[in-house]
Amino acid sequence: MTGEFIFALLNPALSAVLGLTFLLLWRLRPNHDYLCVLALAFVCCGAAFVANDFLQHWEGPGLRVVVNLLFTVAVGALCVSAMVRVGAPVPVAAFAATNMLGAVLFLWFLLVAPSTEGRIYTANTTLAIMGAVTVWQLLRATPKSAVDWLFVGLGGLLVTLALARPLATVAHALDTNAGGSLQASDYWATVQAMTPVLATTTALAFFAAWTVRALSELRMEADRDHLTGLLNRRGFDAGVHAAMAAPGAGRAQPAIMLVDIDNFKQVNDSFGHIAGDKVIAAASRVLASFGQTPLVGRTGGEEFALFFPQCQRSELLAIAESIRAAFPRVQIAGMPDDYPLSISIGIHTRHQSEPLSAMVASADEALYHAKTSGKNRAVMAPIALKTVAAAG
Ligand code: GH3
Ligand code: MG
Ligand code: MG
Repeated sequence: MTGEFIFALLNPALSAVLGLTFLLLWRLRPNHDYLCVLALAFVCCGAAFVANDFLQHWEGPGLRVVVNLLFTVAVGALCVSAMVRVGAPVPVAAFAATNMLGAVLFLWFLLVAPSTEGRIYTANTTLAIMGAVTVWQLLRATPKSAVDWLFVGLGGLLVTLALARPLATVAHALDTNAGGSLQASDYWATVQAMTPVLATTTALAFFAAWTVRALSELRMEADRDHLTGLLNRRGFDAGVHAAMAAPGAGRAQPAIMLVDIDNFKQVNDSFGHIAGDKVIAAASRVLASFGQTPLVGRTGGEEFALFFPQCQRSELLAIAESIRAAFPRVQIAGMPDDYPLSISIGIHTRHQSEPLSAMVASADEALYHAKTSGKNRAVMAPIALKTVAAAG
């Protein structure tokens, strides 16, 4: 095996590994759909090197067209995946026009007026235009993070490289035809040597983007309840702690409201667990629809909590009463419309700087009082427990 042969293996092997890696990452998070386009880019890049470096037996216009097509698809797919990642519109018309013109010129320099330089200028200019259009689209989508700017920089690098090689060829710094073969030329050696650097850098940028987004999605999922989409206890507690530590929070009058569905076990027993789940989901929609606070959590099986960063006691009572009145009106498939659904509510307003655990304990005590005094009511718990809104 010669050194050249081993060197020629570098790009196909690297492209295959990177293509496979991004396919696996895509399978892990299928909503990151730009990754399958990226995998296609690496596969086409590897295939282009295989065709150019290992199929020389079939050298001729057909092979040149295949190699050029594979490289163009690889760079096009790379650009598309960068744009899809940030939700930037893909400029289909600009890409199609550029590639059509590029194809005509390429075929001209292949079949009508054969010129290796002509084909090199054409192919690289096509890539440079696709890169420049991509950078423009990424900038228009307003880069928001360091990773977004990394992609803009990579786009710039692609454009620079695509322009640098033809310029070096014009300046005779790179020969394009060593002994009648492009494969043995300086030009091709720079392509072979630079591509792994570019491919690895690009892959690292995409990997960084995937990691940042996947971690933030996992954090969101860890804070959410799967059945209702509300915050779970962990997310609710974190949200409340952050709200109470916010600047100016010390002067506010926060409150907590605990909500528990009455006689819920009976719903499960009479209509089944699936109907029970629907009741929980319906209750969560009622609570979320009140909109006075973004902090609504499902903190237990059929138990919910709402945190109000600033709310007067009279307002809290009105909200609790509206929620209590709205709940029996929800309709659940598989349950009679007139089934008596109701909830009980315990409310606590914060005393000085007491911790969340003390607020929850007090609201829970109020809730217990609501349950033991007949259910379907709201009870406020300051120092002395007092029933404030009884069933109508
Ligand atoms: P109370 O009026 O005193 O609150 O009585 P309850 O029947 O509502 O309360 P209890 O604590 O006796 O029963 C709650 C039931 O909720 C028991 C449990 O099986 C059920 N449960 C907990 N989580 C889920 C869930 O995710 N889905 C369904 N369908 N049921 C659940
Ligand atoms: Mg209950
Ligand atoms: Mg309960």
